[in-house]
Amino acid sequence: MSSLTERLARVRAEIAQAAEVVDRDPAAITLLAVSKTHPLPVIAAAAELGVTAFGENRVEEAVGKIAARPDLAWHMIGHVQSRKAADVIAAGFVLVHSLDSLKLAERLSRSAQQAGREQAVLLECNVSGEASKEGWAASDPAVWPALIEAFSSVTALPGLRVEGLMTMAPWGTDDQTARPIFTRLRRLRDQASDRLGLPLATLSMGMSDDFRGAIAEGSTLVRVGRALFGERG
Ligand SMILES: *Cc1c(COP(=O)(O)O)cnc(C)c1O
Repeated sequence: MSSLTERLARVRAEIAQAAEVVDRDPAAITLLAVSKTHPLPVIAAAAELGVTAFGENRVEEAVGKIAARPDLAWHMIGHVQSRKAADVIAAGFVLVHSLDSLKLAERLSRSAQQAGREQAVLLECNVSGEASKEGWAASDPAVWPALIEAFSSVTALPGLRVEGLMTMAPWGTDDQTARPIFTRLRRLRDQASDRLGLPLATLSMGMSDDFRGAIAEGSTLVRVGRALFGERG
């Protein structure tokens, strides 16, 4: 078993290498350490090594961690039920990656306004077409014009700031297999950005098995769990 120090060094080197291959600045890619299921001492060890951004997928679990380490940047990456929108706003995530419906957007907007906050969000898109995946249905480019219309209803809501798009490739997919999925998300982002007149600069794509392919396709934020912390129990 290699140590967290070694794993982190390897992941950082692989991010840098993947960026260099396509002439991108590695500094433009955020490493989000996915700390779901891992206890605070593990998070503290990663923070000690210079990791500043952490991803959680359950609001109940995140709340305690955020209270213990308010100095770190916490991201919500898991599915959010509309009835938990107020909890998500109250938790104080710097970015919610998983905005996947207009209903959830309306709830988050209302809670953010009540809290006097602006919540940064990403639109989670299902570009792989897997039935089990959350996200706006986006695997067929023919639906994109209608989808971008729906996005415009989200971007019009007060209290939310839409910063970009997020996707997940199927679990266990390697870099090469996942690449066309990441290409599709980037193209959708480009079209949406054009039509909506918004930068949508953040592309949250790539996990332990496929972050190199995601970087080749323009990812600005990779969500890495197992490659840093090992298998989840
Ligand atoms: C768990 C999770 C990850 C991290 O996956 P690993 O394979 O452990 O790197 C990334 N994104 C989301 C949305 C997740 O739920």
